[in-house]
Amino acid sequence: MTGRLPAPILVRRGGQLTDELAREAGGPPGLGQVPSRLAPSSIAPVVCGYCAVGCSLDVHVRNGRAVSLSPSPAYPVNRGHACPKGWEALAPLAAPDRGTVPLLRRGGQLEPASWPEAVGEMVSRFRAIGERHGPAAVAFLSTGQIATEEMALLGTLAKLGMGMVHGDGNTRQCMASAVVAYQGCFGFDAPPYTYADLECSDVIVLVGSNMCIAHPILWERVCANPHHPEVIVVDPRLTETAAAGTRHLAIWPKSDLWLLYGLAHALIARGAVDAEFVAAHTSGFEGFAAHVARFTPEVVSARTGLAASAILEVANQIAAGRRVSFWWTMGVNQSHEGVRVAQAIIALALMTGNIGRLGTGANSITGQCNAMGSRQFSLTTGLFGGRRFEDAAERAEVAEMLGLDEGLIPRSKGLAYDQILGSIRRGEVRGLWVVGTNTAHSWPDRGALSSTLAELECLVVQDMYPTTETASRADVYLPAAGWGEKEGTFINSERRVGLLQRVAPAPGQALADFHIFRLVAEAWGVGPMFRDWTSPEAAFEVLQRVSRGTPCDISGIAGYEQLRSSGGVQWPYPEGTADAPAERRLFEDGRFYHPDGRARFVWDEPHAGPEDLSAQWPLRLLSGRGSSAQWHTQTRTSKCAVLAGLAPAEAYVQISPTDGEAFGIAEGDLVEVSTRRGTMTARASVTAAVGPGQIFLPMHYVGTNRLTLEVVDPHSRQPSFKDGAATLRRIGGAEASG
Ligand code: SF4
Repeated sequence: MTGRLPAPILVRRGGQLTDELAREAGGPPGLGQVPSRLAPSSIAPVVCGYCAVGCSLDVHVRNGRAVSLSPSPAYPVNRGHACPKGWEALAPLAAPDRGTVPLLRRGGQLEPASWPEAVGEMVSRFRAIGERHGPAAVAFLSTGQIATEEMALLGTLAKLGMGMVHGDGNTRQCMASAVVAYQGCFGFDAPPYTYADLECSDVIVLVGSNMCIAHPILWERVCANPHHPEVIVVDPRLTETAAAGTRHLAIWPKSDLWLLYGLAHALIARGAVDAEFVAAHTSGFEGFAAHVARFTPEVVSARTGLAASAILEVANQIAAGRRVSFWWTMGVNQSHEGVRVAQAIIALALMTGNIGRLGTGANSITGQCNAMGSRQFSLTTGLFGGRRFEDAAERAEVAEMLGLDEGLIPRSKGLAYDQILGSIRRGEVRGLWVVGTNTAHSWPDRGALSSTLAELECLVVQDMYPTTETASRADVYLPAAGWGEKEGTFINSERRVGLLQRVAPAPGQALADFHIFRLVAEAWGVGPMFRDWTSPEAAFEVLQRVSRGTPCDISGIAGYEQLRSSGGVQWPYPEGTADAPAERRLFEDGRFYHPDGRARFVWDEPHAGPEDLSAQWPLRLLSGRGSSAQWHTQTRTSKCAVLAGLAPAEAYVQISPTDGEAFGIAEGDLVEVSTRRGTMTARASVTAAVGPGQIFLPMHYVGTNRLTLEVVDPHSRQPSFKDGAATLRRIGGAEASG
């Protein structure tokens, strides 16, 4: 079935479904909450709303309510498995602090308001700011956690409808470096793999990826590999993944670019280059080879802390592998030179011909459930389908496909996340719309960020909860439906479009983000622009249309019904692809997306990190995921008792035994962790998992980003979360309370 949803679509109020609010808002029917299309008792597969693995969860619905779930046994991604967050995905929906009504700040307090009042206030204040300071004075920050249709609607509304110049997503914090790396090397942001490659490799190289914790279902795919692969883990810490791998390269923090160039040097030296592939399908290898000539094992050993023999042994393992796959995630992306590190990984795959074949690839694993949707359809850093704002022909193409005036489309992509914050500090951006992200917790140096947000004339926050660190500062709060309470699609790390179904009612007056955006469009006076966007499924048809002819073409998908029945569909899937194999990797024909069809080698000099260690700040602060049971800022996962029981409630810091002794700190002591930006308390975990001179803090705790450093990669503008200089002080024993 691909038909439209029945009209009128209703809004829930006081437990009753009514279209009253839609009428009050001055809009046509169809603005409100979508009734579930599920039978009162049924099992509905829904793609998970946390990480980008994209597992499917079978939600069991009884009498119209979701009562439990189990991992979908036949879904090709997870095949009956889920991590703790997936198993408990329903719990955060029932949290007592869910937002059930819009809120307006009056006399310093957030007070209940109607939807028309809240949206009207937002519109009048944003309009007033725009009239005084120009359209660039209002911006938005969005998320990789909402559906593709929602982020596309937001981008179109904000930039083409409301005239905003600047808008970005929190995907900037996790994937931007991989995006820029792929664009430079392949000519398009195109992760080339399928998850099946994890089961087909005989050598798996994981760089900056704690897969056991961050993407546990992918680790299960590694464990299902029947070829007994070498699993080489490059990470400063002895993570769970490093402990489970066959070889751990415990490099010094941020020396990965040296190591990767050293491996390239060693591979060239031993004649392990696939000269035929390089000559036929790439450009720039000679320059790259000349660049890495000085990265001898001895030089790289001195920069990484690894033995020269270990570097040569790993090069030999890669050379001997018939199917070598390289995988990376935040340890690479969140770096002052993350783009170049990712491009060095891609270079290793290209020079050894490990791409476009079973079990190979230079494979970035995405963070959030819909980071890929954001990358290609959010209208933040690019136009739909990877087109560019700066290209007049591509602007014209998109305008024609949308049936809109080309002049509405901005001629530049606008500012990145950190630049928007800088613009607020300079008084240029004065109104901010934050959607589904907790900036005041998740952005580095959050102490400084707090002052930044205080500069705003109007902060609008749209979220499931009014209690987040960001929402509690809002002038206008818009209550949003969560995962499972709305429809749409997510696109996972392996380019698979999966379906999000509505299996539970949103509480009170909370609305799907899609419908909130439509209310705002009506209130702004641009509702007619979205006459084709009547429902998420109708919006999906719009996206199929605008994807046509791009590398991420999804025009051949037969609507939500195919997604519901097929286990998701990987892009590209243009019209006429119905008989394509279910699992498809890119570049099997050796053609890349640059105009000459060749992949490019891209390289640079390694640069020192932004903050040197010193006598006052002698420790390198690392941060990352601490538990598979918690998600980012814990906005949702902290609401679940089961998940809370699986991860320490109190912040902890990993300290090496050497530093424990040097600082007089024992296991369980209460310590202060400080950087130039601030201080937090944490419980000491003295462990050989971190090397001397390094400490590790899980990112989930609210204090962690008080310490992190707001420095970004110059190419991707992704923050380097894992690179500050810190110190420790014991403030109490195990009995002390924080
Ligand atoms: Fe959800 Fe990711 Fe866990 Fe799968 S691995 S259940 S997608 S959080």
